[in-house]
Amino acid sequence: MKTTTRVAVIGGGVVGCSVLYHLTKLGWSDVMLLERSELTSGSTWHAAGGFHTLNGDTNMAALQGYTINLYKELEALTGMSCGLHHVGGVTLADNQERFDMLLAERAKHRYMGLETEIVTPDEIKKIAPVTNTDGILGALYDPLDGHLDPSGTTHAYAKAARMGGATIETHCKVEETNQRADGTWDIVTNKGTIHAEHIVNAGGLWAREVGAMAGVYLPLHPMEHQYIVTDDIPDIYNMDSEHPHVMDPAGESYLRQEGRGLCIGFYEQPCRPWAVDGTPWDFGHELLPDDYDKIEDSIAFAYKRFPVLETAGIKSVIHGPFTFAPDGNPLVGPVPGMRNYWSACGVMAGFSQGGGVGLMLAQWMIEGETERDTFAMDVARFGQDVITPGYTLPKVIENYQKRFSVAYPNEELPAARPFRTTPMYDIFSDMGAVWGQQYGLEVANYFAREEGEPSYETPSFRRSDAFGATAREVNAVRSSVGINEVQNFGKYRITGPNARAWLDRIMAGRIPKEGRLSLTPMLSPKGRLIGDFTVSCLGEKEFQLTASYGSQAFHTRWFEKNMDEGVILENISDRRTGFQIAGPKAREVLAACTRSDVSEMKFMDVRRMCVGMADCIVQRVSYTGDLGFEIYCDAMAQRQLWWTLWNAGQEHGMQPFGMRAMMSLRLDKFFGSWLSEFSPDYTAAETGMDRFISFKKNVDFIGRAAAEAERETPPARQLCAFEVDAETADVVAYEPIWIEGKVQGFCTSGGYSHYAGKSIAQALIPRELAQDGLEVEIEILGHMRKAKLITTPLFDADGARMRG
Ligand SMILES: Cc1cc2nc3c(=O)[nH]c(=O)nc-3n(C[C@H](O)[C@H](O)[C@H](O)COP(=O)(O)OP(=O)(O)OC[C@H]3O[C@@H](n4cnc5c(N)ncnc54)[C@H](O)[C@@H]3O)c2cc1C
Repeated sequence: MKTTTRVAVIGGGVVGCSVLYHLTKLGWSDVMLLERSELTSGSTWHAAGGFHTLNGDTNMAALQGYTINLYKELEALTGMSCGLHHVGGVTLADNQERFDMLLAERAKHRYMGLETEIVTPDEIKKIAPVTNTDGILGALYDPLDGHLDPSGTTHAYAKAARMGGATIETHCKVEETNQRADGTWDIVTNKGTIHAEHIVNAGGLWAREVGAMAGVYLPLHPMEHQYIVTDDIPDIYNMDSEHPHVMDPAGESYLRQEGRGLCIGFYEQPCRPWAVDGTPWDFGHELLPDDYDKIEDSIAFAYKRFPVLETAGIKSVIHGPFTFAPDGNPLVGPVPGMRNYWSACGVMAGFSQGGGVGLMLAQWMIEGETERDTFAMDVARFGQDVITPGYTLPKVIENYQKRFSVAYPNEELPAARPFRTTPMYDIFSDMGAVWGQQYGLEVANYFAREEGEPSYETPSFRRSDAFGATAREVNAVRSSVGINEVQNFGKYRITGPNARAWLDRIMAGRIPKEGRLSLTPMLSPKGRLIGDFTVSCLGEKEFQLTASYGSQAFHTRWFEKNMDEGVILENISDRRTGFQIAGPKAREVLAACTRSDVSEMKFMDVRRMCVGMADCIVQRVSYTGDLGFEIYCDAMAQRQLWWTLWNAGQEHGMQPFGMRAMMSLRLDKFFGSWLSEFSPDYTAAETGMDRFISFKKNVDFIGRAAAEAERETPPARQLCAFEVDAETADVVAYEPIWIEGKVQGFCTSGGYSHYAGKSIAQALIPRELAQDGLEVEIEILGHMRKAKLITTPLFDADGARMRG
């Protein structure tokens, strides 16, 4: 056996084999896969082998498209069969909400180039004749849906990898992974020890155990899952062509032809987690006992939807476990806090996603970054030091149960909550706070304070029942003063003799002088946006950075990877908290709470001052686009600060406001938001963030060459704002922009400006078309809505209020 290798991939399921293949495809041939038994000895061997492109996250959907298109390439390369059946599939909608979701998906597919289409009940009958279409409104047809042979496909990946120089060692169980001081790994197996530069954990059902060998906790959990294969059915084997897939979200089932019969699987509500305390090492090629009780209701529903099943005999039942992350997407990438340790785990749809996972991981390892935004599957998205098995388990159960549910843009899922709360939780709850959740933290979405304002926001694709409360909060900010926590910002303290030099290198923008703030993009070497930060200079050797709360592990991982001597980085997101106050009366409220001179504070100034009894850092800036202050204090002093500000605010009619109002207010100024307008999918020049890049500074900051190249040759697309002639549904994200009858762009985000009484969208369109007044159409829930490009902000266009 080889005893040294550049990469050791642990696990020979479909995911490990895909990673191995993609590493060779991108140029690394000194790579090795270690499998404790034969290839496919985890979830892979008993999968139903179905694949499809539908995924609520657009980047995940694109990677699923990549995976499906890869199979033919793999067959051609290896001469092996993946057992492909490209039969197409329909996803049914039996109510308006489900139909809305399909319409929204179809709209997204237009600019992604996916050839899906909405079909009527009559067309469904022709495409998928076993379907009883009573009560069905329509369906989404995807010609790319199909199924394959799980074992054949895994072996094809393995052969392709071997052809690229990879080695595969079967019956080689990894028992320990020990890191050396230089960051490389000694991997102890039953066949001896292997020295590897990198480890990829593709342990599937055993990913938790493999992770624990290196002290890594990966938030995933196995769930039991069952599908049934019927005896031969004449209605099926007498058809001229193979019956396509049918996804029936109402029945939480997926159905397809298997041989001369059918196969149907269920995501049943009375589902069961498997191996809660750890996956046994002796589990392998066996199945779990049949359990009809668990799927009794699902079967009864399926008999109504597919009457042919009622008289079909059952040939076999496949009941096995596979793993899920809390949101159902994979866990991919460099594990935060670790060196040379990569995750390729939690892949619940290995045959839809395995190719994309392999490609992204290989790009990340070899090229240092991926070609697209992978945040939806980044192992860092839950926060390595925040997440626990106690959180993961209920979230995974919820995700399994909601696998076929409508995913609403404003939906807040209830499992594992409240988990992390600030000192304000009870005070805000008593004031009617309606909570959302971000990175495990409870965040107030709005406050139900007036008669008729709902204490639960009904999930919807249209304007929700929180509309009135949000309008009231927006009005309070614009007419007087509003108050909101600043807990949900990621906050970092940077100190040390080289703090400024490091920030200058890591951030593309200007690093401010003492007492001032600046806004700056953080770029990847290829010039992609990997952060939008506010930098506050509190002293020549002390800075505060603020950015997205949900990206803490993502950003910390990047900072640590690019750390310099003489710099101390502290993530103080949960230690330093406080409030923002915004609106024309904000200055008066702050002045009443401190003996410091607030009137001398200019826009983008930062000062230390005592507010009430709390030692605070006060910044004159506000994402609402209004006159405003962010007031940071130690978490222990937050309640005292609250009562100081709140009591002082009463004479001005101060109101608390939540994230719904904040996201409406920012639209008035066309401010972008992280992971919508600003994400690794886009560059600074595409999104207008290049105006914050300091080309003057004499520093070779990360991404400089790419940013300069964009100055020479501006990118093809540009971020613009539109006023939309919407009715009851505003833009959410990824709706296509039609210009002269062609899809020429897509929305990044949108919503309703309560201040201006207008529906607003932000979108990327071809640069040469980006002219004030351009008329376009935006497809929202299947309807073409007229929209006009606008360049003048809806509020405070000259900045007089914000800066005054
Ligand atoms: C009933 C059922 C139906 C399914 N249907 C579908 C479907 O239709 N479509 C779809 O896309 N997905 C389906 N899935 C899910 C699919 O099976 C998984 O997404 C996929 O198999 C995950 O592959 P993996 O490589 O991540 O993990 P696994 O297949 O679990 O592979 C992990 C491998 O790692 C090895 N390993 C673990 N620890 C060690 C160690 N210490 N040393 C060496 N080797 C180790 C294991 O032996 C194993 O071979 C289904 C799953 C089930 C249970």
